[in-house]
Formats: sequence, C-alpha cells, structure tokens
Amino acid sequence: MKIAIIGAGPGGLYAALAAARENIRVDLFEKRKVGEGIVCGECIFDSLGIMARPGRGLLHPVDEIVMKCRRDYTFPLSRLRKLWMLDRRIWQQELANLARSRGVVIHENAKITQARLRQMQKEYDWIADASGAPSVTSGLYQFSDEYFKEYLLAYQVLLAGDFSALAPRIKVAFFSNLPSELQPAYYWIFPKDAGQANAGVVCTVRGTLNRDRLDLKKLLADVLLAEGLAAASVLEKGGGIGTSRLLPHLVYDNIILVGDAAGLTSALHGGGIDMACLSGVLAVQAVIGGSKGIAAYEKKLKRYMRDKLALEKVTIRKMRTLSFDQFDDLLSGVTSASKVARLKTALCHPDMLYATIKWLGKKKDVPEWPV
Ligand SMILES: Cc1cc2nc3c(=O)[nH]c(=O)nc-3n(C[C@H](O)[C@H](O)[C@H](O)COP(=O)(O)OP(=O)(O)OC[C@H]3O[C@@H](n4cnc5c(N)ncnc54)[C@H](O)[C@@H]3O)c2cc1C
Repeated sequence: MKIAIIGAGPGGLYAALAAARENIRVDLFEKRKVGEGIVCGECIFDSLGIMARPGRGLLHPVDEIVMKCRRDYTFPLSRLRKLWMLDRRIWQQELANLARSRGVVIHENAKITQARLRQMQKEYDWIADASGAPSVTSGLYQFSDEYFKEYLLAYQVLLAGDFSALAPRIKVAFFSNLPSELQPAYYWIFPKDAGQANAGVVCTVRGTLNRDRLDLKKLLADVLLAEGLAAASVLEKGGGIGTSRLLPHLVYDNIILVGDAAGLTSALHGGGIDMACLSGVLAVQAVIGGSKGIAAYEKKLKRYMRDKLALEKVTIRKMRTLSFDQFDDLLSGVTSASKVARLKTALCHPDMLYATIKWLGKKKDVPEWPV
C-alpha cells in the first residue's frame, strides 16, 4: 500500500508514524518547513486520558490551572487527565525526524493544490488529509462551509516578560462582558517558562461573523493591559479557527480526513492536538482494514469522544445560561478545598456531576501509539 499525507501537523505526523510502523510507503507533503508557522497555545490537554507523555519538545507538565471568573480559583489536575506545555516546533521536528528514520519521505515547501490532490488520488491508494481547516479536500469537494457553521475564533501572541508568578501553572479566564452566543469565550496565559508565554483570546462564532462586534485584537490588548502585561514584548502573533464540529463525512473517495480537517477541535476549549494525534493513528488503522475499517473510522472516533463531548456540552450550556455570578459560584464550588462545598455544588449541578463521573470513570482503550 502507498499513502500520501497532507500536512506535517500533529495529525499528519502521527498518521505517518503509524503507517511507517505497518511498512506502508508514505509520502508526506507539507506546504512550509516542518514546525514552521505554528500558531498555538502549545498546551496538550490529554482530554481522553490516553496520550503518552511527549518526548523531545516537552517543556513541563502542568499540575494546576488558575481559573479566573470573579476571583481566581486553582484547579488541580487529577492523575487521570494530563496537561503538558510543549515547544511544538521542536516536538513536530522530532516526530518528523523519527518518521524519516522509519522510511517516510517528507516533502517540505510542497503545497498541495486541488488539482494536485485530484492527480494524487490516482497515484496513491489512500490520502490522509491533515491539512487543518479548511482542508484541501474541502476545496475540491466543496464543503468548506461545513467548518464555519459553528467554530472557535482565536488570536494569540507569544510574549517575552516576567511570568515567574504563574509558571509552571497556566491561566484561563472567562469573559464576563461577552454575550452568551459568543460563549465559550475566554483568554489564556500559558507560560512556556518564567520568561515567555503564549497569551490569547478565543470566542465561539455561529454563522456569520460580525467583525464590528468582535475585535479579537482589541480584546487581547485590553486583557494584556488588565493583566499588567502591556509592556511585554510581542515575539510572534497570529490567529486561527477551531473546527468544533465533527464533519458529517470523513471519507471522500480515497481521501480520509484527520485532525482539524475532520472537525476535531474541542468546542469548549479549542484544544485539538490530542484528537489530531488519535485520529491520525485511527485513520491508518482504517485504511489497513479495507472497507470495513473505513466504515468503522467515524464510529471509533465517536466512541472515544462520547463522554468528553457530553461533558463539554453540559459545561457549554452552563456558560451560556448561568449568570456570571452563578458561574463563579460553580467554579468556586468545584475548586473548593472543603468536601462539603464540593458536595453542595455537585448536588446543585447533577448533570455536570454525572457527565464528569462518566468522563473520568470509564477506562478507554489506549491505541497503539507509534511513538
Ligand atoms: C490560536 C490557537 C491556539 C491553539 N492552542 C491550542 C493548545 O494550546 N492546545 C491544543 O491542543 N490545541 C490548540 N489549538 C488547536 C490546535 O492547534 C489544532 O487542533 C491542531 O494543530 C490540529 O492538528 P492538525 O494536524 O489537524 O492540523 P495543523 O496543526 O493545523 O497542521 C496542518 C498542517 O498542514 C499544512 N498544510 C496546510 N495546507 C496545506 C497544503 N495545501 N499542502 C501541504 N500542507 C498544508 C500546514 O502548514 C500545517 O503544518 C489552537 C489553535 C489556535 C488557532
């Protein structure tokens, strides 16, 4: 079997490594150089509790999140769900080196156009499109609008400053002044070390974006001012979308969608690295499995995601329907050191308790990671 992969992001690289392990011939095409042009908070949230600890490129594990609503609350991470701060450039370059050493041919500065994709469909048995959103395939098969029905819009900067008071923790703060239709909406400060941090803002957009009502650059400038970071130097900046709805179809003739191209970013927090890696591995298993494998790809992804999606849905509903004070009470309750306060909060929000128990409780099959 011979497969082509479009995109050397986490999804494409994990797919390449998984395919190389099966002795499949792999050509991976990346429009830039591997590791370049990444716009990301660079924090992996192992939202299913199945990821292996990253190797080279790992900066440090994160044990606590500071969540800000009216006040700051410290949220300890359980041993069941991990967070890791990464240098994604180094991490992805290392994965690419490993893939090369296993025989994957990586073509850098090789942008795949729609015409080239059509040609590739004849040259390869399968193509894994991990080109992000909107994907190359969506241009060819004309479904790009699927990515924009409901999505997260984000803008971020890499700052040089003093983050010693926060690191190695990360901070997530909810916007009180934005309307419910833009929720989830929050800003983040993710220190890479004591002297550098990714800081950004993210909001949900449903349907047409009203740029007069939503100016993310201004929103971030206000945040940095309020956080006392206005004087920090901006080293890099950029934005992007999070494709928070699984696409209705994940296979187009001999093309299979992976990662953001498949719509696998979290609608709650916009993180998608873990799902990109997982879908890369599952996509390769699917093509190896022939027509049965392909038919099972979407089902497998949904099975992995079911409990996570249920909890995200409940949480998003709370963010949209509770007042800011009520949401603050909820955060205060779940992060309280007092068992009684936590129990009281749980009884007030049984839907959330039930979804959390299901999400944390059931042991997931750990896929055979290729790294
Ligand atoms: C501002 C922002 C912050 C984020 N922060 C986080 C975070 O902290 N944690 C987290 O888990 N997720 C985060 N995400 C989401 C995360 O970046 C994505 O979910 C993840 O990168 C998806 O991986 P992927 O491999 O599917 O796609 P990508 O990482 O987008 O990789 C796609 C690759 O394809 C290449 N490509 C595109 N078009 C072509 C083409 N035509 N030909 C060849 N190559 C092509 C691109 O150059 C790129 O290398 C963030 C997103 C944004 C926008």
